[in-house]
Amino acid sequence: MIAKNFKQVQRNIINAAEKAGRDSSDVRLVAVTKEQGVDTIAEGLRAGTEILGENKIQDAQGKVETLGCDGIEWHFIGHLQKNKVKFIFDLFDLIHSVDSAALAEAIHEKAQTRGTCMPILLQVNVSGEASKFGMDPGDLSKVIRQLAPLEGVKIKGLMTIPPFDSDPEKSRPYFVRLRELRDACAELAFPNVSLDELSMGMSNDYEVAVEEGATLVRVGTALFGPRPSAG
Ligand SMILES: *Cc1c(COP(=O)(O)O)cnc(C)c1O
Repeated sequence: MIAKNFKQVQRNIINAAEKAGRDSSDVRLVAVTKEQGVDTIAEGLRAGTEILGENKIQDAQGKVETLGCDGIEWHFIGHLQKNKVKFIFDLFDLIHSVDSAALAEAIHEKAQTRGTCMPILLQVNVSGEASKFGMDPGDLSKVIRQLAPLEGVKIKGLMTIPPFDSDPEKSRPYFVRLRELRDACAELAFPNVSLDELSMGMSNDYEVAVEEGATLVRVGTALFGPRPSAG
C-alpha cells in the first residue's frame, strides 16, 4: 500500500511540475513520518523514500537510532524549543521550521560551540493566523539581514503552512505569496544566504504547491494513511 501511494504521489508531483513547465527533479518529497512506527517507516524506505520529516525531537531520537542515516536525510518540520536545540545536530540535516530570529541565533550559538553549521529554512506566517508559528512577512528581509552574518546557520530558503482547507486551490495564494517573498528577498542578495528552497505543500495541496514553485513538499497522510492520532 505504501509503495503504491509513494508511486502515485511521485507521479502527481511529476505531472504538476510538467503542467507548470518545471523540472520535476527540482522537487523533493519529504515523507512525513511523525507518529508512524519504525516498521511503517522502513516500508517507506523500501518504497524509495529518501527524506524523512519528523516534528518531535524525542520521537526522532529513537527512530534515527533504529533506522540510521545511511542514504536517509532527516528533516525537522515541527516547532523547535530553544532548550531542544542541542539535540538537532546529531539528528537532522535540515530544519524547515525556524520561526524566529531568536531561534536562529540559538542554533547559531550551539553550532559554533560544535564547530559546525546547520542548514535552515525560515518559516513564514503568510496567512497571519494568530495560531500559527512563523515570522511576519513584513519582517522577513530585516530578519535575513540580521541572520546572514551568522556562521552557525545557513539560510537555504523559506517554509510555510497555509490554513487548512479541503479545497487545495485555497492554498494557492499563500504559496504564491511565499514565492514572491522569496523572489523579493533573493533580489537583495544577502551574502551567505541562498533562498533556493521553498518548503510548501502537504497531502491535500502538494500538487498546487509544486505548480507554484515548491522544491520540498511535506507529505504524510497521502503516503502512510491517517496518523494514529487522526483516529
Ligand atoms: C504533519 C505535517 C505535514 C504532513 O501532513 P499531511 O497532511 O499528513 O501530509 C506537513 N508539514 C508539517 C509541518 C506537518 O506538521
